[in-house]
Amino acid sequence: MKTEVLIIGGGVAGLSLALKLARRSVPVIVVEREEGAGHLYKGELLQPKTLQIFERLGFLDRLEADMYPLEAVHTREVGRRREELLHVRMDYSVLPEHAMAAMIPHDRLRELLVKEALACESFQLVRPAVFLDLETSHTARIKYRDELQSISANIIVGADGRGSRIRKKAGITFDIQSYNHDFLTFSFACPPELKEGEMIADEERFLGLFPLPGERVRSVLQIRPGEYKQLKQAGPSAVHEHYLRLEPRLDGYVQTVTEWKEIQLMVPVRETVHRYYRSNLIVIGDAAHSVHPMAGEGMNLAIQDADILGELISWMYQSGKSRDYTWFHWFEDVRKKRVEYISWLSHLFAKMYSPKGRAWQRLRMTAIRSLVNSRSLHDKQMLNISGLGLVPFRAKDGFHLFFRGKRKVLQQHVFTTKDDYPWQVTCGVNSDDN
Ligand SMILES: Cc1cc2nc3c(=O)[nH]c(=O)nc-3n(C[C@H](O)[C@H](O)[C@H](O)COP(=O)(O)OP(=O)(O)OC[C@H]3O[C@@H](n4cnc5c(N)ncnc54)[C@H](O)[C@@H]3O)c2cc1C
Repeated sequence: MKTEVLIIGGGVAGLSLALKLARRSVPVIVVEREEGAGHLYKGELLQPKTLQIFERLGFLDRLEADMYPLEAVHTREVGRRREELLHVRMDYSVLPEHAMAAMIPHDRLRELLVKEALACESFQLVRPAVFLDLETSHTARIKYRDELQSISANIIVGADGRGSRIRKKAGITFDIQSYNHDFLTFSFACPPELKEGEMIADEERFLGLFPLPGERVRSVLQIRPGEYKQLKQAGPSAVHEHYLRLEPRLDGYVQTVTEWKEIQLMVPVRETVHRYYRSNLIVIGDAAHSVHPMAGEGMNLAIQDADILGELISWMYQSGKSRDYTWFHWFEDVRKKRVEYISWLSHLFAKMYSPKGRAWQRLRMTAIRSLVNSRSLHDKQMLNISGLGLVPFRAKDGFHLFFRGKRKVLQQHVFTTKDDYPWQVTCGVNSDDN
């Protein structure tokens, strides 16, 4: 087999990139080891920038029937007698462009991306097929339906997630960081009064609740290392108790999960590559950076990578530069800084919810109150997590812990086309929006 762009991994990163390239008539093959879209939970929150990317691809309409729009996320703190100590609302509507996020089941998103890409002539999906090795930097060896095969390509993209083999073959080094907690996750029937996202914590642990389409809710419960074994032995009823202590409105709903096999363990890891490419080999999504899931950013960073790289590769083909891989520096220039900031922010969230005890909970509550009381900090935070723009927090933001800040005009910090695709401006070439 032969193609122009070979993508190893048909997760959200690989498929979003393939869709963009196929729409621009760049021949692309995706090699994916799973037969179908998979059924594991791997992130379901689409941030506003991701929705904007899908809209520009003309793909958002296809998702609408499967999405649950999310206008805000409530942050709550619960005391020892289950009393509510704090309740604030983080509101997406302050954002200049897309005023909301959305929830979509991960496997459904992948299924729809495949369906959309298959409608393009230049797209080919090879699955179930495992990438084994590189014969040369332009030829991949794969095992497809028990047969060894080779695929030659001009560009090879590693979208093969954590533990990426392409990253290893390219000799791309990375930093890795683990955490002192894990998560349990499962979905169940949603109580009707739960309409927006909820992040609920007491002095012991954290529970996230995010409504899904079809009147279901995704839940994520923080657990201590070693607790998984104990909870598994005790069975789902021990997990229900933690849920009900944090959110009594789940009574009668969470107990519908009766089998341990419905509950998935999630082990957070932070990985950050030192560089994104070597010659014609380039990595995106979790192959380049996995982030702590607390801020719901992993899937979004992956799709945002795909958008920038898709635009760059299409432009390289349109302008006769497809064999000059030094142009990949633009991808790294745009993405590295943004990803590292979001990864740090997700890490900070994780740290806020890691230590136990009443004193730490009080400290966390002070920080959350300050964030929401200062309009400026609230809006900064919403812009940063939305992916639409970036306003780094500065030391002087500490003053807002004591004084209410004014609302800043966010529009000036929203990424422009020039920020997203700077090579188009520098080289004086325009390309279509989809
Ligand atoms: C349990 C879990 C929970 C998560 N929760 C959240 C969350 O709440 N919010 C959030 O935003 N993100 C979350 N994430 C992160 C999010 O899932 C990832 O950031 C996102 O899926 C990255 O997409 P990707 O396409 O880069 O990688 P992946 O989704 O990992 O896709 C990689 C693909 O490559 C394929 N592949 C790998 N190796 C090979 C090979 N050798 N040959 C062929 N195919 C191969 C795999 O089968 C897979 O389909 C979570 C991840 C996990 C694992």
